[in-house]
Amino acid sequence: MHRTSSPRTWLTRTCLAGLPTLLLTTASLADVSTRELDAAAKTIDNKVIEWRRDFHANPELGNREVRTAEIVAKRLQALDLQVKTGIGMTGVAALLKGARPGPTIALRADMDALPVTEQVDLPFKSKARAEYRGEQVGVMHACGHDAHTAILLGVAEILAGMRDKLRGQVLFIFQPAEEGPPDGETGGAGRMMAEGLFDIAKPQAVFGLHVVASLNTGVIGYRSGPMMAGSDRFNIEVKGRQTHGASPWNGVDPIVVAAQITTGLQQIVSRQIDITKIPAVISIGAIKGGIRFNIIPDSVEMVGTIRTFEPSVRTDVIERITRTAKNIAAASGATATVTIGTAPNPPVINDAALTQQSLPSLERVAGKGNVRVISLQTTAEDFSYYGLFAPSLFFWVGITPPDRDAEKVPYNHSPLFYVDEAGIGVGMRALLAVATDYLQRK
Ligand SMILES: [Zn+2]
Ligand SMILES: [Zn+2]
Repeated sequence: MHRTSSPRTWLTRTCLAGLPTLLLTTASLADVSTRELDAAAKTIDNKVIEWRRDFHANPELGNREVRTAEIVAKRLQALDLQVKTGIGMTGVAALLKGARPGPTIALRADMDALPVTEQVDLPFKSKARAEYRGEQVGVMHACGHDAHTAILLGVAEILAGMRDKLRGQVLFIFQPAEEGPPDGETGGAGRMMAEGLFDIAKPQAVFGLHVVASLNTGVIGYRSGPMMAGSDRFNIEVKGRQTHGASPWNGVDPIVVAAQITTGLQQIVSRQIDITKIPAVISIGAIKGGIRFNIIPDSVEMVGTIRTFEPSVRTDVIERITRTAKNIAAASGATATVTIGTAPNPPVINDAALTQQSLPSLERVAGKGNVRVISLQTTAEDFSYYGLFAPSLFFWVGITPPDRDAEKVPYNHSPLFYVDEAGIGVGMRALLAVATDYLQRK
């Protein structure tokens, strides 16, 4: 349990009563209190919302967050932090050094928007357009990363203002391309890590949050252990032999083989995986082959996604997909080549001890009944990369107005995705609470 004032603070204050001359120096050694954090948060709530609206009106696609990164870097420099730009294309990181010794933590926000045309009627509605896969598309912060960026800027400003009292160090991470880089590029958390993000300072814990439509404002969702799935793309090339549609026996029909493989893959999860332990998902998203009604084509390309929560299950599923596709193809005299994507997202796994330690902080902000365990999520998040290098905690922050049914409103990525701005303050306070409690715990 965390108290507003720790025994240490209380002791310091008591001793100080008789030693007025020491008041200034010793008082500055007191920890940051919840009351101070609340007061500081109140003074910048409106500013954070203004920042979020500006980001919302000016969204940028993954690896193209040039304007956003520039604003972020300027604000961090104004706070007198050590700022590094251009990590993983447009990524920005800043290090805050507290005046007192302590651990190092990292706090992460993502900055990218999506190729979605906004349909929400807001004064700061996005009118942005950009080129995506050769097409002109609308761009929208349909996943709420505008809120994440504004929240973390708010947290940075508050903590920088308390650096004299702060223990340890805080690495602020503003990450590009969480939703994935454009075709032919790399990006996101994995790339920032590959470019030495944690060389700036190696954190002992990493925290991140995501605003979600499926929770009402005021509610925080979390899960200890696996929370969000790891994702892998795969591609299967089925090669047959082209022939006339009137005489299939003269060739090898890859379309029929692709259909059999699709069905076969669905039997992996339903017949071969012990789903009572942990689930898995295999989905085929596209099948392409052929050009004309009476020509059996030479080959068919299939693409799909795998979602798993444990490395051993992932390896097993990949092996089964490969075996199933190859053997089904062989039965018809065709071949199937399975290729697994080179940039998988690992699952988001919340460190059990860190989650347990951080719960009281979240509960203090949202109220005990409002911090809820969510079910396993088959969506993915590249926040998971940081968890490969340090214990991490990712949690969800509700942003659907209390008078609306969070299970029925348009979800993240919808052109109707809507952020109740009252949830932004909850997110900022939650991140401040877990961060300061961690730094002051040791
Ligand atoms: Zn998203
Ligand atoms: Zn997102």
